[in-house]
Amino acid sequence: MSLSSDILVPVLLFLVVLLFFFLLISLSKARKLRSSLSKLMISFKELDDQAKLIVRTDLELNKTQEDLDRRLNGLDALQKISRLVTTTLDETEIFRRLDQPLLTELGFEKYLVLLFSSEGQLHPHVNFGFSPEEVSGLKTALENFDRLVEILKEEGLVSSHKGPQTLREIFKLNALLKYFVLTPILAQNDTPGLVIAGNQTGHASITEGDEELLSILADQIGQAISNARLFEKVYRSSQMQEIKVQDRTKQLSTALEEVNKISKAKSEFISAVSHELRTPLTSIKGYAALLMTGKLGQIPEKVQERLDKINKHSDNLVKLINDLLDISRIESGRIEMKRNEYHLKPMIESVADLLGPQLKDKGIHFVSEVPDGLPPLLVDGSQIERVFINLVSNAIKFTPADGTITIKVERNPDHLLVSAADSGIGIKKEDLSKLFNEFYRVENEINQNVKGTGLGLALTKKIIEAHGGKIWVESQVNKGTTFFFTLPFDRKS
Ligand code: ADP
Repeated sequence: MSLSSDILVPVLLFLVVLLFFFLLISLSKARKLRSSLSKLMISFKELDDQAKLIVRTDLELNKTQEDLDRRLNGLDALQKISRLVTTTLDETEIFRRLDQPLLTELGFEKYLVLLFSSEGQLHPHVNFGFSPEEVSGLKTALENFDRLVEILKEEGLVSSHKGPQTLREIFKLNALLKYFVLTPILAQNDTPGLVIAGNQTGHASITEGDEELLSILADQIGQAISNARLFEKVYRSSQMQEIKVQDRTKQLSTALEEVNKISKAKSEFISAVSHELRTPLTSIKGYAALLMTGKLGQIPEKVQERLDKINKHSDNLVKLINDLLDISRIESGRIEMKRNEYHLKPMIESVADLLGPQLKDKGIHFVSEVPDGLPPLLVDGSQIERVFINLVSNAIKFTPADGTITIKVERNPDHLLVSAADSGIGIKKEDLSKLFNEFYRVENEINQNVKGTGLGLALTKKIIEAHGGKIWVESQVNKGTTFFFTLPFDRKS
């Protein structure tokens, strides 16, 4: 018994110590486990937070993506609308091109474009989504809104979260619009109208991007309206100009008809008077000639002198009458140019021969510069010779002794250019334009002493024109005068 209790006590003690030792170990393990558990709990919470953050970020990203898509769609639609409205110059067509599917892509549910009339009333030109009652309510309220245009110009635009409260009330009251944008259409310092866009659905609020989009749309419409109105103005004024030109042309052709009538009457009158004068003049000249022969009795010397004068004056008068008759006949086309092939060189030589005595008298040098091998001209030889005689006689008359007269002919593709130049007294600038008028004679010393009719150049011009040519003159006082005229090769009539 005592042995067993001796052994048992230490064993029990040992066991108790062992147990205590194990208890201590377990306690420390439990403590470690608990601390690991709490660490795990923290990590788990952190993971949970991060997961929530990821979900939240993902949602936000999705929303931003949607917004971006909407903006991109809007911008794309805006670009299409811009291209459409700015490529027409017809104002009605601008609004026809603002069609619903495109506008809807800008991101609003309803659209209304109103234009001011000249009396300041608003008229709808585009309407998608607004009922007639809503349009009429908005129109009246906006028309009566004090300083609407000024406010819009100052603010740039008004929307459901920007601008006067009173305007917001108008949209809520008349169109039940919680979200809206109202922008002015600006065109060349003018505000021709308004663009309204809005969303009725509660969640579809207006962003700054939406406002910007609508403002660009209004600008594009304004630009298109400006172009169309400017074009209309230019087109109208060009039409007015055309009408004026037509009126003027009509007036001018009536005046021309009148001038032709008068000119015809003048030619007929001159022709009749000349005929009437020519007959008695021929008798006067005949009688004077008869008296001068002495067949009707001896004529005293003094009477003879007078008769000689009568004869000379009659000759001058006959020349004047013949020139007058020819001018009026050529003018009325009653003288036909008898055309044949002529070379100018021999014609000029024959004129120089004819006027040789006068040239010699004044000691004037005559030079003719006509190139060889010129083709013949189809002209009335006697009339063209008359032209040369007139020009050279005048040149002799107005060139002092020892001067030079040069006739030059130049070949051009379709005509010959003839010039008759002298080294004479010349003609003042102010007289040049009147030189070819009938009876015009420059007032100078030579004309005061030498008789002339003032018909030579008028007749010369008529003859050249009847051949399809042109005549003009250049001159310098005290240096000389040059007459130029052209004669075409191919004129058949
Ligand atoms: P007329 O010789 O009978 O006066 P013309 O019609 O031939 O009539 O000429 C009109 C006027 O033109 C002349 O009076 C003269 O004043 C001027 N004139 C013509 N040819 C010349 C010339 N070569 N040099 C200067 N003046 C000229």
